[in-house]
Amino acid sequence: MDKYFPQEKGWDRTNIKIGLYRVITVMILGPIYFNYCKSQLNWTILWSLWLLYAALWIPLQGKHSKETPNFWTFTFIICDVFFLLLFSVIEYNVLENYSAVLIIPLFQYLIRYGRKTAFAYVFISIAVILHICISHYEIHPVNHIIVAIIMLLIVSNEGLLIQENKDLRKQLYNISIYDELTGLYNYRFFTQIIKREINRANRYRSSLTVLLIDIDYFKRINDSYGHEKGNIVLKGVAEIIAETVRDADVAARYGGEEFVVILPETTLDDGYHVAERIRRKVAEFKFEFGKVTISAGVASCMPPALCGEQVLKRADMAMYSAKKNGRNRVEIDNIVASAT
Ligand code: GH3
Ligand code: MG
Ligand code: MG
Repeated sequence: MDKYFPQEKGWDRTNIKIGLYRVITVMILGPIYFNYCKSQLNWTILWSLWLLYAALWIPLQGKHSKETPNFWTFTFIICDVFFLLLFSVIEYNVLENYSAVLIIPLFQYLIRYGRKTAFAYVFISIAVILHICISHYEIHPVNHIIVAIIMLLIVSNEGLLIQENKDLRKQLYNISIYDELTGLYNYRFFTQIIKREINRANRYRSSLTVLLIDIDYFKRINDSYGHEKGNIVLKGVAEIIAETVRDADVAARYGGEEFVVILPETTLDDGYHVAERIRRKVAEFKFEFGKVTISAGVASCMPPALCGEQVLKRADMAMYSAKKNGRNRVEIDNIVASAT
């Protein structure tokens, strides 16, 4: 089973903020350079173009989610360097400050996309800075070289902290969605996903199947062999569930020794076969102290009936029937799915 990352919809707030900072930066720099440029008419036209370009970040990156650089990120990296260079060359006086202005986008790339992306930006910048120093002898290279060194230092030092921060956030996110013992998703994450999957099933009129799995006589295992051995059984069963379901399925620890699996776009019949395969694998598995069995309940939402959270209750009832009918078996729910 692969990791399930919820697709965030809509606009990405941080990217919109970055877009706004870009626009504000250009708005501040424009009037400052206005006093030093060769042709104020040229500068006004260029500045308007620059402003437009800075604002383009909002529609092009704002819709892209989160912290993964995409095609547009790299297009912006290259354009940021060359756009500034173009302006600097046209308005020669600005060239003096060209490399200093490069620092501003550096922070945006560093904070948003991490060190690798920021390094890409620095290396493109350094290549262009070197080109300026070589081809414009009258420009004193020291300032540009100092800025290049500062950029590298920022990425190396600050980048380390920012990366650490990102890793910690990721760790925290993982803790919040995974069950520590079994490595499956936890109940908290499951409650979010089931709602999303039910909505999806209704929107696309697709079937959705839910399996509820409970280990038989688990209390006895704990009582006879100890809690530690009980935990080994929980991990073993979780592993069997995880390796049996597809990547698109979501397996979670529902409670103590209960597990739940969401099978999107799966019929009751197919769901039954998945549960049966899990049941058989568990029953055949030899733990160090012997064998363990599970009971499972299967319930589905089948279009055109609307799907609701009642499907979980139906799977629970089917599981209860499996217990009542002797355990180590899979029971299916026979009630036709209806919205609740
Ligand atoms: P049934 O066949 O009817 O399901 O019987 P059961 O003994 O499995 O069910 P019961 O609900 O009586 O017992 C569940 C036990 O699961 C009780 C609890 O101590 C144990 N349990 C819950 N969480 C954990 C855990 O994280 N680790 C261990 N080792 N045991 C746990
Ligand atoms: Mg139970
Ligand atoms: Mg049990």
